[in-house]
Amino acid sequence: MGKEVSARIKAELKTEVENLKKEGINPGLAVIIVGEDPASQVYVRNKERACEECGIYSEKYALTAETTQEELLKLIDELNNKSSISGILVQLPVPKHIDEKTIINAIAPNKDVDAFHPVNVGKIMVGNYDFVPCTPAGVMELIKESGIDVSGKECVIVGRSNIVGKPQAMLLLHQNGTVTICHSKTKNLAEKTKNADILVAAVGIPNFIKGDMIKEGAVVIDVGINRLENKKLCGDVEFESAEKVAGAITPVPGGVGPMTIAMLMKNTVKAAILNKSK
Ligand code: NDP
Repeated sequence: MGKEVSARIKAELKTEVENLKKEGINPGLAVIIVGEDPASQVYVRNKERACEECGIYSEKYALTAETTQEELLKLIDELNNKSSISGILVQLPVPKHIDEKTIINAIAPNKDVDAFHPVNVGKIMVGNYDFVPCTPAGVMELIKESGIDVSGKECVIVGRSNIVGKPQAMLLLHQNGTVTICHSKTKNLAEKTKNADILVAAVGIPNFIKGDMIKEGAVVIDVGINRLENKKLCGDVEFESAEKVAGAITPVPGGVGPMTIAMLMKNTVKAAILNKSK
């Protein structure tokens, strides 16, 4: 489902971008990648491709792993002030000698299309936001597309990262879900996951959630992207056992992944409107 929905969203955005250009608003995304991490290279390529599909101007900055924090901050400052750029994304992780928080804090909040800056995180918390973090936003779109009403549902998220688990919890809470966040110190995890009407797995461990941890008929959303030794991609949910119990389940690949990129495009267009990018 993720593939189809994301393709539709991108097609809608293409039309919106064409109309915005007539008004003199030109969305532009700058993607910065530091180092040669193979997974990051793939993500960045996919983001560039999505920009092309939507008619969004993009600039890629591929910096060597030796780039200093000061050099990276200087580039971010230039892009913050560049009128043709509406959104800035620094592909994470950055090399260890660069402090991730300092980098995130340096991106102008009105160009922070990943929604990782503390200002945008705070806005999500209070439910009054411009940008929604792409992966949790993609999950919410999939839930909406499936016609599932979150209100009153038991929502269990496994994972509490700043980029997935925590914002996901907020988005589900804003839609009146009853939210439980689990993590590596959670006791009796299966007891919690078995209680979920909507289960979101964002753990980063291949096939971690098994069918016997899922309630009959639950909606299971697998955020995980893990590369196995045989180079195949797999999620955090053991698909074979889970699909026998779940009412609906997202696959990996082709589920949340493409939605994340579609949401990034959406945020870039929104940023262009906010910033009236030229
Ligand atoms: P992190 O490593 O930042 O967070 C993982 C979370 O899982 C942590 O909160 C951790 O708990 C928890 N966890 C680890 N082990 C266990 C355990 N045994 N039981 C319960 N909880 C556990 O990962 P991310 O949130 O960045 O990513 C999660 C997954 O989603 C990864 O596979 C990643 O590749 C994928 N991903 C996919 C995206 C997409 O576009 N589809 C985008 C972003 C990520 P604790 O906090 O206690 O350490």
